[in-house]
Amino acid sequence: MSHFLKRSLQLTTETLPSWDLTDLYSAVDDPQIQLDMDASRQQAIDFEVQFKGTIATDELTGSHLLRALQAYENLLAAEYRPQSFAQLHYSTNTADAARGALLQKTREFGSAVATHLVFFKLEISNIPPAVYDRISAEPALAPYRHYLDHERRMAVHNLTELEERILVETSNSRGRAFARLATEVHSRTRFSIELDGQTLEKSQSEILVLLYDARREVRRKAAASISAGLQSNRHVGTYIYNTLLHEKDVLDRLRSYDQAEASRHLANELDASVVDIVSDVCAENFSIVGRYYRLKGKILGIDDLAHYDRYAPMRGQESDIEFSQAREMVIDAFADFSPRLASTADQFFDNRWIDAGLAEGKQGGAYCAAVTPDHHPYVFMNYTGKPRDVMTLAHELGHGIHDVLAAHNHLLDYHPVLPMAETASTFGEMLVFDRLLGNLTDDGERLALVCSKVEDTFATVFRQIAMYRFEQQAHRARRQEGELPTERFSALWQQNMQVMFGDSLQLGEEHADWWLYIPHIVDVPFYVYAYAYGELLVLALYAKYQQEGENFVERYFQLLSAGGSRSPAELVGELGLDITDRAFWQGGCDLIAERVAQAETLAPTTGAV
Ligand SMILES: [Zn+2]
Repeated sequence: MSHFLKRSLQLTTETLPSWDLTDLYSAVDDPQIQLDMDASRQQAIDFEVQFKGTIATDELTGSHLLRALQAYENLLAAEYRPQSFAQLHYSTNTADAARGALLQKTREFGSAVATHLVFFKLEISNIPPAVYDRISAEPALAPYRHYLDHERRMAVHNLTELEERILVETSNSRGRAFARLATEVHSRTRFSIELDGQTLEKSQSEILVLLYDARREVRRKAAASISAGLQSNRHVGTYIYNTLLHEKDVLDRLRSYDQAEASRHLANELDASVVDIVSDVCAENFSIVGRYYRLKGKILGIDDLAHYDRYAPMRGQESDIEFSQAREMVIDAFADFSPRLASTADQFFDNRWIDAGLAEGKQGGAYCAAVTPDHHPYVFMNYTGKPRDVMTLAHELGHGIHDVLAAHNHLLDYHPVLPMAETASTFGEMLVFDRLLGNLTDDGERLALVCSKVEDTFATVFRQIAMYRFEQQAHRARRQEGELPTERFSALWQQNMQVMFGDSLQLGEEHADWWLYIPHIVDVPFYVYAYAYGELLVLALYAKYQQEGENFVERYFQLLSAGGSRSPAELVGELGLDITDRAFWQGGCDLIAERVAQAETLAPTTGAV
């Protein structure tokens, strides 16, 4: 079944799906938004009146704490509704002032609500140990035990209530404001490129697609255009990043975190030592990247591989895939694993929970947004009809399925911690990949697919670790040297990226500023290592699935449905795997190396080398 690899198919024959947000609100000016925000604010005030001063006491009972936790969840759920709508609606048109204004309004509302809730976490942390030991064993509190234990571990980093309130109230005019500015700058940047004698203006997503073009000249021009676009925002991007690094430095000092990464590790419920193992093992395996790009250079017939050749398609790989075909492929692959996986994914299409179109002002990239356990998630993407978009669709649907399966948890345990958050998404991609490969008979097509999977895996594992190491050094440098010039960041970026490629390709000066468009380092510091962690973990899980078949399926569903109710070490431990073992992570890297070897074997049979 290689119908999806039809070449030069016109994508204009079908309309890409847009999502239906009316189950949240009817429009940006729906009066219900304001009514809900007012009600939610009142709910928060009532909560504070009812529970403040009653938690961190010697008289606390389990049933009282349970009532407080349930009231807390209810008001968070009410608060997320307008906020989610504003965020989702904004992302499909960031240039619409009304949507931007609503987003800002809901964020300010969120901060206003949060000021009434600050006391709650602080009081949970300050429950006298003897009291906590007595009540936390009560069966009624068992579902909240993980949440409460985690909050109490974070407690040593809390400030006083008044200080926390000031931070909450000012949050939209500090780091978060700069992160939003970065998003707006990138969404509005136009990248000009001359193609076939015409000068075209492209959005960031549109220009990035051209890096995957088969024509080297197009890729070279696209890369030059990206560099020029980033150059025009260089000052503001550098200023934003410096500001965020400085803010984090100050807050970490006030909260007594000894390292820039420490707050992320704690939130991820991972020991620094485990993250260091993942990072080190990946760095020790960077030679896999060089080995692959030397092969790719041969296949492409390019001796001096440049940074813009990284994503060059293999010969004959120019395939366009209609969205309806993408859907079919993903559903079929999921059904092979389990009909339950397929039917859960089908709901997203049938109920219009997906926005896949391309539009002016639409934010780039893809994401899946969970709202609350009693409301379905949404999938956002920019579908350009390439095989990698099918993988992206599988990826985001994987997230969505994870959310649906975890929806029986209470809100405070709904979301998996970051390192587990990529499990279902990556696993979904893996299923689709194997389906694609199994259905191909032509070695040239198989080679192209294996190569694109290798490149995606590199992007998720080694590239994220290279970025993580860049981030670590950037935070450290800002702390030691003060405000940094663009060149300093760019030099760190180049060093960390180049070492991954070894001598297989030269990034070149033009690539030096490309850290400027990486959203994660701005939005969520040190997010990136979770991708590498997640992918390597999934490689191990997938190997287990191949060994165990049917028996694995139910345990996999259990893993996903646990949501955020247990730590990564516990969840993975339940599957009989040990994340503190270097060999476990090396095993994942070995599987990547095997895939590169597969490409090396296929290449001569296709006459590509
Ligand atoms: Zn993801």
